[in-house]
Amino acid sequence: MDYIGMNYILYFDYASLIVMVILLVSFCMIKHLDTIQNQILSVMLWGHLCVILMDIVNGLGPQWNIPGIHEILYMTHLIYFMVHNLTIFAFFFYCCCQVDFIFGRRLYIFALSFLPMVISFILMLSNAGNGWIFTVDENLVYRRGPMVLVVYLIAGVYVALSIALISVYRTKLTKLQLLVTYLYLLLCITGVAVQYFLPKLLVESFGMTVAMMLLFFTTAKFSDFYDQNFNVLNRQAFLHIVNSRINWLESSYIICLKVHDMQLYRLTMGKEFQEQLIRKIISYLYTEFPGANVFQYSNSEFVMIPKKKVKEKRISQVLDNIKEKFRETWQVGDNEIRCSFHVARFLYGVNEEISKPGQLREQLDYINNYSKIIENNVIETKDMKIGVAARKLLVQKLLREAVDHDGFEMYYQPIYSVREGKIISAEALIRLKNTDHGFISPEEFIPIAEQNGLIMRIGEFVFRSVCRFIKENNLGKFGIEFVEVNLSVVQCMQEKLHRQLLDIMGEYGVTPEQINLEITETAEATRMDAFQKNVFALTDEGIHFSLDDYGTGYSNINFLYKFPFNIVKIDKSLLWGAFENEKAMITLESSIEMAKRLNLEVVVEGVETEEHIELLKELGCEYLQGYYFSKPIPGKDFLQYVSSMVQA
Ligand code: C2E
Ligand code: CA
Ligand code: CA
Repeated sequence: MDYIGMNYILYFDYASLIVMVILLVSFCMIKHLDTIQNQILSVMLWGHLCVILMDIVNGLGPQWNIPGIHEILYMTHLIYFMVHNLTIFAFFFYCCCQVDFIFGRRLYIFALSFLPMVISFILMLSNAGNGWIFTVDENLVYRRGPMVLVVYLIAGVYVALSIALISVYRTKLTKLQLLVTYLYLLLCITGVAVQYFLPKLLVESFGMTVAMMLLFFTTAKFSDFYDQNFNVLNRQAFLHIVNSRINWLESSYIICLKVHDMQLYRLTMGKEFQEQLIRKIISYLYTEFPGANVFQYSNSEFVMIPKKKVKEKRISQVLDNIKEKFRETWQVGDNEIRCSFHVARFLYGVNEEISKPGQLREQLDYINNYSKIIENNVIETKDMKIGVAARKLLVQKLLREAVDHDGFEMYYQPIYSVREGKIISAEALIRLKNTDHGFISPEEFIPIAEQNGLIMRIGEFVFRSVCRFIKENNLGKFGIEFVEVNLSVVQCMQEKLHRQLLDIMGEYGVTPEQINLEITETAEATRMDAFQKNVFALTDEGIHFSLDDYGTGYSNINFLYKFPFNIVKIDKSLLWGAFENEKAMITLESSIEMAKRLNLEVVVEGVETEEHIELLKELGCEYLQGYYFSKPIPGKDFLQYVSSMVQA
């Protein structure tokens, strides 16, 4: 076809240009979520602008009498074709984002989808030599080449692919999104068709501009992803961004910070206080890691994702800084508080710890459950290498093996009497014998054993081992008056528990005053009748009880009155807290005072330093337990330790 003397009708292009510029300016001025979909949208906007400009130059150029105009026109035609196809190619990926199509698991499709594009680019780049697509002759006349249709067909391939994708996954789109996507495609097709048959009418870009406008106005609003109150991206935004990045094969670290006791702050200090604290934490996170997006995942959980790939070292540094920062107090209004926390890092990506956005919740729940172990600390990725479900299965398997093949061992931690100046008791603490998987804390495996019922057999092992230990070594000779044994909540709810324990004691000839059972108040929650029956039946036999973990729960006092306890064990967090804030100090003081007035003995756990001992002596605390004296150690070592203490 020949276009000599043709007068292009450019009005549509001028109108398109104005609209496109407005769209682009708005796009740049409005905040957007940092997703691939939005990046593609921006590529499409710039692409369209470029196509329109080229179209205008192509239309006006032949009338310009300037040197090099022939080459300029050749280039603008070429760029027109290339960018035109590129935007349709980009739209195909835009559709992939919309329906959350995961290339990660279908890499070959990803590779294949580039093929038509590559072919069209080769054709266009070789056009200078063969003129297959178009030529611009010495009179500046543009002529279509014999293969120009191929370029249009390739664009058509992406249109068809997009239609197929959208149709297959239409349930993932809202009605409006679906309508706009189809309209976009329809406008593109008709634009191209009209221009093909009526080449004078440069209407194609106008169709595309209208389509672009529709797309622009139906992309998710930033305000849906942003919490104005706290000035932070919300959980929705997190899910969106991670999803989009995983789908596009990106992998990166995420840092998750959990601040403990947020709910407690709200209850005790009020909503305003809690919100102010959250704002402080968020603004700290922004300054700590400016290169990251910060999200509020829940009231007490905050997530950071680096905007660009960063080295592991940078992540470690941020984690260290957070740890350092949380050592300090937070000034909120007139109050200064120190928050306990834990922080973890994960890798997300197709084959990483988090390969679906929902898995973060699982990982966080898992950590939150065991946060006692890792309070005020950083959780290393290596500890979290396997997913939650897999880890649980592994621990279950190890527990089963241990139950069947003598895989547990009892450790003993001495308890020191201030008055007598010697070790008078010990707490029995269970250990899973060294596994290939490193040390597994009872804090992790006891809850799992409670869930799958193994706890009864484990409990029996514990009690049997302790009774044997007392008898075989004649502990009384070492000045050990009794051994503390932990009972799990689930154990206490078994009707026959008291029978089982009494039978075992009978078997080894252990007397009731040689045993002290430790229970926690959480035991109260369910099946109260069985629980009560067990406690009273054992008390009737002369066995004493200790209330464990005092100071970590809520309704201790009530529980304390209800049952005939002899000992209150004050949790280590209360002791450690007393050195950090006045309120914890008052709580510790009054707890010890109250216990004494109720005629209860007090054991304080977590005694690690001379200062701890000084303070506790001053407060008149009678029994001390902690690493200062000894960590939990195997029975043999315990006996040696006690003998050496006696000699010293
Ligand atoms: P718990 O009953 O509160 O046990 C005290 C925990 O504090 C022990 O951890 C002990 O090693 C640790 N601890 C003692 N002094 C210090 C100190 O000065 N510094 C520090 N940092 N830690 C100290 P462990 O042995 O890991 O036991 C954890 C929990 O697992 C126990 O908490 C208890 O709830 C449960 N558990 C342990 N053994 C048994 C058992 O035989 N049966 C049942 N049902 N639960 C058990
Ligand atoms: Ca205990
Ligand atoms: Ca305890």
